[in-house]
Amino acid sequence: MKLAVVGGSELVTLAGPARPRTGAELRELAILRDGAMLIRDGRIEKVGPRAEIAIDLDTEIIDAGGRVVMAGFVDAHTHPVFAGNRADEFEKRAEGATYQEIAAAGGGIRSTVRKTRAAGEDALVSAASRYVTWFLRNGTTTIEAKSGYGLSIDDELKLLRAIGRIAPVHAVPTFLGAHEIPDEFRGRREAYVDFVIGEMLPRAAPLAKFCDVFCEPRVFPVAEARRVLQAARERGLGLRMHADQLENGGGALLAAELGAATADHLEHSDSAAIAALARAGVQPVLLPGAVYALGSKRYPEARAMIAAGLAVVVATDFNPGSSPTPSMPMILSLAATQMKMTPAESISASTINAAYSLGLGNEIGSLEAGKRADFVIHDCADHRELAYFFGVEPARACYIDGQLRWSR
Ligand SMILES: [Zn+2]
Repeated sequence: MKLAVVGGSELVTLAGPARPRTGAELRELAILRDGAMLIRDGRIEKVGPRAEIAIDLDTEIIDAGGRVVMAGFVDAHTHPVFAGNRADEFEKRAEGATYQEIAAAGGGIRSTVRKTRAAGEDALVSAASRYVTWFLRNGTTTIEAKSGYGLSIDDELKLLRAIGRIAPVHAVPTFLGAHEIPDEFRGRREAYVDFVIGEMLPRAAPLAKFCDVFCEPRVFPVAEARRVLQAARERGLGLRMHADQLENGGGALLAAELGAATADHLEHSDSAAIAALARAGVQPVLLPGAVYALGSKRYPEARAMIAAGLAVVVATDFNPGSSPTPSMPMILSLAATQMKMTPAESISASTINAAYSLGLGNEIGSLEAGKRADFVIHDCADHRELAYFFGVEPARACYIDGQLRWSR
């Protein structure tokens, strides 16, 4: 099974050092303007100038027709398995209610938990497959996928099994039992944390690669987040954290203390927190879709993070409440207009850096020999158009493991 990709206006290879990109490296996309890529058995065999690539007669040729060919987006923060949606709360927020008011009245995450508990695994997989198509239409070929709408042993395991059935995009499973305190544990946060650590984690860990905690002073404060994450690490899981989204509660400092893979959100992190993340080598995952959809003006300090040498990631935070978008191009647009990241910086942040944040930097995130042939032909001639146009779905064809998995 041999493929050759030719005829792209830009072959955006993102080739470079075998580590996440920082500083000025974020702008180096290693673009070939008359490039070709050879693929054998789902892996990239060779990438280079067209004139240097010999194509055998038995190779199937894919002509990109003067369009951008790029590594598939890697969305390093999503919540794609849930039942129902929260269009009703969206309407209430448009009428002036805040996210916190809705949550205090039993809405928010807890309302999705009630619906998700009532749904069977097959129904959840079928709902998620609709969203997977949306990811593909926007050029995403790998997602990180969190549980966290079950919050009981059986329901969290049901979500992790559903995540395991996501296809054809690759899904990296994250256990998020400490997402919210479920109704039956209201007012008994410590007891719920004990339950997560003692009862859920031992059963969930074999189905997950990472553990995440919603670390906020009024949900899971630092001391409790630390306990959950330390227990997860002892069970072999990598660590990710929702940190400093609603207030500066020390979440980023905890991520640095624990040497987590990522600290996500960081809207309220200060310069001391950014410096701590830099010293610890924690990757920030910035989620401007959640800032936008909540109607906030407070975006994370992307420029300060890049200046501090952090290997920035951007992601959608796709979820039914605070960020109902699967569109990485929309995130690139917000990164440019609200966080002053250039299109090249946010493309690096949503491909190669995102791949490293998931421990997959040697497998995906760039078009280099030996990696999985996960690539997208976008319906544009210049990579900057991916961030510039908004409200469109630019992908024309998505290949995963060298196989055409979606096309317009
Ligand atoms: Zn999230």
